[in-house]
Amino acid sequence: MRRNWQQGISNLALSMLGLALFGWIIGVGMQLLLIGLIGYVAWSSYQMVRLHQWLDGTGGSEPPESHGMWGVIFDGIHDLQRKQKKSRKRLRKVLRRVQQSLGALRDGVVMIDSNRCLEWWNSAAGELLGFRAPQDANQYITNLLRDPQFIEYFAGGDYSEPLEIRSPVNREIVVQLQITRYGKNDYLMLARDMSRIHQLEQVRRDFVANVSHELKTPLTVIRGYLETLLEQKDDLPGRTLECMAAMESQAMRMHTLIDDLLYLSRLENVKGNGHSSVPLRPLLERISRDVRPLADGKNQSLSLEMEGDPALTGYEGELYSAFSNLAMNSVKYTGKGGQISIRVFQQDGSLLVEFRDTGIGIEYEHLCRLTERFYRVDKSRSVASGGTGLGLAIVKHVLLRHNADLDIRSEPGVGSTFTCRFPPQRIVQDAVPDSAA
Ligand code: ADP
Repeated sequence: MRRNWQQGISNLALSMLGLALFGWIIGVGMQLLLIGLIGYVAWSSYQMVRLHQWLDGTGGSEPPESHGMWGVIFDGIHDLQRKQKKSRKRLRKVLRRVQQSLGALRDGVVMIDSNRCLEWWNSAAGELLGFRAPQDANQYITNLLRDPQFIEYFAGGDYSEPLEIRSPVNREIVVQLQITRYGKNDYLMLARDMSRIHQLEQVRRDFVANVSHELKTPLTVIRGYLETLLEQKDDLPGRTLECMAAMESQAMRMHTLIDDLLYLSRLENVKGNGHSSVPLRPLLERISRDVRPLADGKNQSLSLEMEGDPALTGYEGELYSAFSNLAMNSVKYTGKGGQISIRVFQQDGSLLVEFRDTGIGIEYEHLCRLTERFYRVDKSRSVASGGTGLGLAIVKHVLLRHNADLDIRSEPGVGSTFTCRFPPQRIVQDAVPDSAA
């Protein structure tokens, strides 16, 4: 039966008033009122005991039957309990569904709490990363994933880029991990099996490397015959000579293209080994000497500036190739009388090698795509200048292998600056003078 509290209070007030009135009529008003109040307090205490017994479960699951204010209180609490029960049931259902859907995901989902302990994971994460329930729950994530790369990545706190590691369960599987912070410093980590994509990447790399390699032999034969024929150019009619010269120049272009493709494949496929301390002064002086004839031919000024004698830990041949591509581009894409400057300096602990020109510049929308293979801003101009469209792709790969970044700034008609930023761990400290350090 539903009761309301106004009625409860008015019943109580009316009873007390009635009692007081009756007492006043028979001449014992105060005494009767006192007896009534004591009786009410005793009854209320009894109701409180019943309430306590009901709430702690010893008085049964149904609310005690009562009337007046206590009836209202019992009903109110019972209502509240029913509502809470309903919403708990609904929440449990939602949680079960969320867990079921996360569990059905083919990507791994891992929840890590603010203490960096494993809180929850779905079955895909268990399979990819080898977590076992229940023993791995609440363990430090870095005790479970011991790959040094992951430990460094997790501690670093910069999760803007995903990390790829080998699965601790099966070294054949490549897992990509992407961490997002949420809630109160908790971590949500997504784990994705990238083995198939890696396999396809490898097939693509092998294909390019094999095709380039296979093309090289017939091309060398064709070039050989062309050179031999061109040696007897006096015997050849003018038109034939023209055609053959064009054929030779195109064969030469193809040769450069194949060499660049093979070089890129090597950069992608061969694990770096045998790195050494590479002094930059002789390397960049050599590059300046190489490009100077072309710069002189265009009346350009070419300068090289550096503080002290910095050196990098790396692969000399690769660094030569990257820097000479950048220097060559500066000269190629700068008009007559322009200025080219190569500068080496330190900034925030990193070593920067900068190639600045006052050339044609590049529109902003092209900048993010420049390091893609065969991407050219102006195809005809690039081909005319002997470019293959692979130079900056080579630069990017070489820098990747040296943990370095390429920063490109450019303004059409004003010039471009290509800056290679090498992290502190790549700098050979003995080679850096105190003033620059
Ligand atoms: P390419 O062999 O065509 O020079 P790259 O990969 O070296 O190929 O360069 C890609 C494109 O970037 C070039 O085609 C050119 O349009 C542009 N580029 C590169 N360096 C410069 C530069 N210093 N100034 C202006 N444009 C440049």
